[in-house]
Amino acid sequence: MSNNILKVIPKDYKFIPTLDDRHEIEEFLRINLLAHEVKIKVFKNVEFVDQGSNFESIVCPYCGFDISIDWWHEKMSAAYENLFEDLNVITPCCKNSSTLNDLKYILSAGFAKFMIEISNPKLKLNEELIDTIEQKLCCKIKEVWVHY
Ligand SMILES: [Zn+2]
Repeated sequence: MSNNILKVIPKDYKFIPTLDDRHEIEEFLRINLLAHEVKIKVFKNVEFVDQGSNFESIVCPYCGFDISIDWWHEKMSAAYENLFEDLNVITPCCKNSSTLNDLKYILSAGFAKFMIEISNPKLKLNEELIDTIEQKLCCKIKEVWVHY
C-alpha cells in the first residue's frame, strides 16, 4: 500500500511555534483534513525535509536554470558541517546570493526545525486553510508532499 504524507513546515527554517500553538494546530488539522494521524515534530537541529520519490529537479529561483545535482550535493555536505545553520549559497548559473532553502525544489522541499506530518489526509490544503494555519502558527508555511 502506498502512502502520501503531507509535511507542513515554516518558510523561515529556524522558526518553532509555541507549545500551545503546536497543540492547537494538531487538533485543527486532524479535523479539517480528515487525517487519521497528525504528528508534530521539533528537531534539535535544522533538518532537510525532502519529498521522497517526488523529487524531480532543483531550479534557480532567479533565472530558472536547472541546478546540477552534483553542485547541490556539494553545497548540502558543506552546509551539513555546520548542521544547516548557514544555508547561504551563490547560485552557480547567475551568481546571485540565495540559500539552499530558497532554491526551487520540484516538487517542494525545504529545511525546518519544526514539522507537522499528516498521513494520508483525505482533504488537501486550500487557500483558506493555509491562511488559518499561518495565523495559528504565527508564520508563513510551505507544503512538502512525500510519496512512499
Ligand atoms: Zn540562476
